Amino acid sequence: MSRVVIIGSGIAGLFAALRLDKAGHEVIIITKQRPEDSSTNWAQGGIAGILDKTDGEGMAAHINDTLACGDGVCDEEVVRCVVEEAGDRIRDLLSIGVDFEKDGTEFHLVKEGGHSTRRILHAKDATGAEIERALTNAVDSSDNISLRPHTLGVDLIQRTHGNPEDGIKGIWCLDLGTGNMNAISADAVLIATGGCGLLWERTTNPSVASGDGLAMAVRAGAASKDMAYFQFHPTALMAGNDKPFLITEALRGEGGVLLDNEGLIKYRAGHEQPEKYSFTLKSSHHGSLATRDVVARACDQRMKVTGADNVWLVTDHLDKTKLHNHFPNIESKLNEYGLSLGVDPLPVAPAAHYMVGGLSVDIDGKVLMENGNEIPGLYGIGEVACTGMHGANRLASNSLLEAVVFANRAADHFIARPNNNLEDVPSWRAEGMTKLEEHAPLVRDLETLRKTMTDDVGIVRNFSRLQRAKRMLELLSIEVDLIWTKSLPSRELVELRNLILVATHITEDAIRRTENRGLHYNKDLI
Ligand SMILES: Cc1cc2nc3c(=O)[nH]c(=O)nc-3n(C[C@H](O)[C@H](O)[C@H](O)COP(=O)(O)OP(=O)(O)OC[C@H]3O[C@@H](n4cnc5c(N)ncnc54)[C@H](O)[C@@H]3O)c2cc1C
Repeated sequence: MSRVVIIGSGIAGLFAALRLDKAGHEVIIITKQRPEDSSTNWAQGGIAGILDKTDGEGMAAHINDTLACGDGVCDEEVVRCVVEEAGDRIRDLLSIGVDFEKDGTEFHLVKEGGHSTRRILHAKDATGAEIERALTNAVDSSDNISLRPHTLGVDLIQRTHGNPEDGIKGIWCLDLGTGNMNAISADAVLIATGGCGLLWERTTNPSVASGDGLAMAVRAGAASKDMAYFQFHPTALMAGNDKPFLITEALRGEGGVLLDNEGLIKYRAGHEQPEKYSFTLKSSHHGSLATRDVVARACDQRMKVTGADNVWLVTDHLDKTKLHNHFPNIESKLNEYGLSLGVDPLPVAPAAHYMVGGLSVDIDGKVLMENGNEIPGLYGIGEVACTGMHGANRLASNSLLEAVVFANRAADHFIARPNNNLEDVPSWRAEGMTKLEEHAPLVRDLETLRKTMTDDVGIVRNFSRLQRAKRMLELLSIEVDLIWTKSLPSRELVELRNLILVATHITEDAIRRTENRGLHYNKDLI
């Protein structure tokens, strides 16, 4: 029996844990808040995939839509592999207890931007919560898996310090309850820490999305890939002072339309369907249901040109009963703000949503170095990994699918070649370090970081702003490193340090690019 440590309790981490458990391995999952605090739990729209393995045409269409959305950057072998394994993995989820919506005996399928047909399974508008519920239940009833909440992964422990080629033998983590740093030895570590949406002022991501796994792997010698491609979701609700709440693309899939102020006035005065008045038609003949990069950019530009804080998503031309049945979560959230689904125009604006780039991994989720060699004993799965599936832009509802397929592949890879070589791991070097008494400078540095990313490394970029961001990040990095070298870790310090590193990778990748593709859009390159 080998011991595997998994960092993260979203779909990728939990699914891999169940596979490893089934093969008889000991699994320790560490997660920094409650187990359910993850992007997975917040996913609304659904999971794309063809269940019927004989449906070659359906799979070919899913592959083509994914490649088209990825704008020529997808790894076709990976796309094919994920689409072909989708049916088996979705059946695994069903057998674990995930309850996808049915229409009679058939699954009810929906469509989202960039999909040429209905192929997305869902659990109303709370698909992720249903997946998370079923997976955590299954993990809770396993004897071989121990799940440690409120445990923050801080850094990986290399078998030979400074030599990534020798691999990973464990992890240092911070017990957020006691404040103690602990070292856990492992035969393999699976990083499943999700994305880094917290880098921007407006994000759909939960408070755990600070790029930790990516940063710790990079410090241990891993390469990052395609970091310039960060997806902004076009329709986050702009109401109240709350955190932006996502309005799923499935609502546009059902006919919801984006209008600016002028379009809204014309629509109300006219007798035509709203799409006729949508500014999105200037960007794509798919209008409001074009791919996310196109729609988010169109919204961003429209807001900048008109000076408005938001655009409008209208749904009053749609069947209200259907909306009520399909989007109960969104409806009740809207009601909290005095808005009515199927009646009121909804104020929406883009928000940081999904990290398309990430750790460079191979087709089994093994983490790679800059020279293309793997780091033995280290896997990256889920949003933290850049597999090549999404290319320059992720197709809606492909990320839960990619996460579950790669969680399975990484677990299978380890199961086929189990390492059984637990070594002693050193304690955290705490000598001479003091407890951080003042967190105020960190809070201010985090604000500066998020403002910099929002202003200078957002949806539309240019070289001078990117260079400005780079200089600011260098400064922040120096400041935080100074604190890091003399302080005992705290959650704020660990996350800020990680966020600055990830922001630097995003900005430097954006500066290096000489053409606009998918999500990367630099005005100087037009
Ligand atoms: C609002 C919203 C809606 C979405 N809707 C959809 C959708 O409909 N369909 C779709 O396909 N995708 C959707 N996505 C994207 C999708 O949900 C995510 O890409 C996917 O869930 C990522 O899964 P994951 O397991 O990689 O990471 P996550 O689910 O984010 O889990 C990461 C885990 O790592 C833990 N963690 C992070 N850092 C540390 C650390 N240092 N130490 C310990 N633990 C740590 C976190 O606490 C968390 O448990 C949506 C995302 C959001 C935010």
